[in-house]
Order: sequence, then structure tokens, then C-alpha cells
Amino acid sequence: MKVTQSDIVISAVKPEQYPQTGFPEVALAGRSNVGKSSFINKMINRKNLARTSSKPGKTQTLNFYVINEMMYFVDVPGYGFAKVPKSERDAWGRMIETYITTRDTLKAVILLIDIRHDPTKDDITMYEWLKHMGKPVIIIATKADKIPKGKLQKHEKAIKEKLNKDPNDPIVIFSSETAFGKEKAWSTIESYLKR
Ligand code: GDP
Repeated sequence: MKVTQSDIVISAVKPEQYPQTGFPEVALAGRSNVGKSSFINKMINRKNLARTSSKPGKTQTLNFYVINEMMYFVDVPGYGFAKVPKSERDAWGRMIETYITTRDTLKAVILLIDIRHDPTKDDITMYEWLKHMGKPVIIIATKADKIPKGKLQKHEKAIKEKLNKDPNDPIVIFSSETAFGKEKAWSTIESYLKR
């Protein structure tokens, strides 16, 4: 997709605040620091529209980005910060659960995984939960520029195995540094928008 327009429309904490245009949307989840903001910025050709809003202490919101006035990326706050207090983690869980389970226009969830490492326990829990909810998941394996090209396949295989990935869920190897995988990521996302 050629992105000609993008903007943040709202940081929502509750359903009444979600946009009501009916545009299809794709949510993005991943542990903090996995490269989610960088992925969003690269995909929409913006240097800094998606900020690292997922750091502890910052307000935990669902950030809706409108793209080409026809779809949304919904940035879900990152998980996996051990230091975050339980009360805050619970609030996060409720917000995500409400969003994922009630949002009719949500077509797929992008789960970002750092290609260098095996998925964490939190990554596996998140994936299993999304599958339990019956959601299509697109796996984006980030930071591909950080490992030698010859090793990409081995790492991709490890991610598939550790996640026990559903064969219907695509996996795209990606680098925000080099834009490797950007076109494949877009064509994959687009294939879910009309479902
Ligand atoms: P977030 O917390 O998931 O939003 O992660 P960020 O997008 O802020 O990225 C975390 C760190 O990883 C930053 O220092 C980024 O510059 C770096 N990073 C993100 N994506 C890539 C990538 O594809 N390649 C490399 N080399 N670094 C990346």
C-alpha cells in the first residue's frame, strides 16, 4: 500500500472513545522495546508519529492511527515490564481484553517478536490468548538486520515452533532499519482488511 496520509486520531482508554467511522483496523502488540513504534513509523513513512508511549509510568492507552482515510493501526501498549505494579498490569489486561473481544472492525492482530531471540513467556501467553479469542494473527519478526541473512530462516523456524504457530497465521521478517519486509508486511495486512 502506498501511504499518502497518516495521523493519530485518539488515545483511547475506553470503548466510547474508539473511532466510529467503521474503517477496518489492525492492532499491534508486542513486548516493550520489540520495535513496535519503529515498525509503525516505517510502515506509514513517518519519522516519529508513533512515539514510545509504552514505557512504564506513561499513560496506557490504545493509540489509533488513521491511514489513507481508510483503515487504522491500533497501537496496544507494550507488555513485559517486570517492574510495572500488578494493579497497573490488571488495568492493562482489562483494557486489551475489552478491546480485542468487542471490537467488530478489528481484522487481525500483529504480534511483533524480536527475531534474535526465542519468544518470551509473555509472547507465548499473548499469542495463545489471541488464538483462544479466535483472532487472526500476523507475526512480524523484527530487527532482522541484527542477524546475518544466512541465519534468518533458522530464527524464523524457532519462532514458529516456540509459538506453536497456527499455519494460517503469516510470519513476515522485517527490519525498520533497512525496510526489509515492508512490502510483504503491507500486502499481508491488506489481505486481511476486506475479511
Ligand atoms: P517499542 O518499545 O516496541 O515501541 O520499540 P521501539 O520502536 O522504540 O524500538 C526499541 C529500540 O530498538 C530502539 O532503540 C530502536 O531504534 C531499535 N529498533 C527497532 N526496530 C529496529 C530494527 O528493525 N533494527 C534495529 N537495528 N533496531 C531497531
